[in-house]
Amino acid sequence: MECAEARLRLDAYLDGELAGDDRAALREHLATCPDCAPELAALEGLRDSIRRSAPAYRAPPALRAQIRAGLRRERTANAAGGLSASAWVAYAASLLLAVAVGSGGTYLVLGERQQDTLAEEVIDSHLRSLLADHLTDVASSDKHTVKPWFAGKTDLSPPGVDLAAQGFPLVGGRLDLIAGRPVPALVYRAGKHVINVFVLPKARGDEPETVTRRGYSLRHWVSGDLGYWAVSDAAADEFDKFEHAFRAAVGG
Ligand SMILES: [Zn+2]
Repeated sequence: MECAEARLRLDAYLDGELAGDDRAALREHLATCPDCAPELAALEGLRDSIRRSAPAYRAPPALRAQIRAGLRRERTANAAGGLSASAWVAYAASLLLAVAVGSGGTYLVLGERQQDTLAEEVIDSHLRSLLADHLTDVASSDKHTVKPWFAGKTDLSPPGVDLAAQGFPLVGGRLDLIAGRPVPALVYRAGKHVINVFVLPKARGDEPETVTRRGYSLRHWVSGDLGYWAVSDAAADEFDKFEHAFRAAVGG
């Protein structure tokens, strides 16, 4: 996929409207393109900020559709050179207008990506991996096959952790996109349940946490320079065992 084509599809991708081969092709492009991944991150960041600034208000569907349509027209017009500055301003302004109209005056704060947002993204990625039948890019129960597979695809090096003896066989690995950057996801099984472990750089103010959202359990912990996010619908005691076994194996 060419950059111009990729740019045209970023919105649909973020909206979860891209399916099948289109989605796979875009993800492949994003995983390797140094230009488009930051573009997606910027777009996501803008959306997150707006979402955070106006948690109680969502634009009516008609207005959202109008904004999206307008943005896509802009993107099409600027396909060769990426999104123009004026398009960004128009996009931000139109969303801000929606926010201001709805809440009686909310301002946009472009802050750091919050852990909260990250947790949501991790769940989304977990769901996508299950729904789209794209659980692994490299299918292997051998950590000596899975770990090296990531080399050169992401600057994050996941640990090779074999937990078969503890009842959590390795299924494989996948390159995923979290916060606009390609990150390794290690895939394990716990009985019939899938456990995705996303490996991210440790963030500032990173706090370990255990939360349940949308029916999925999330475990987050930090070890060395890496932040781990494990997500699954496995039972809590089973997930506890997994987390302990994984952390013991990497020494964190
Ligand atoms: Zn590109």
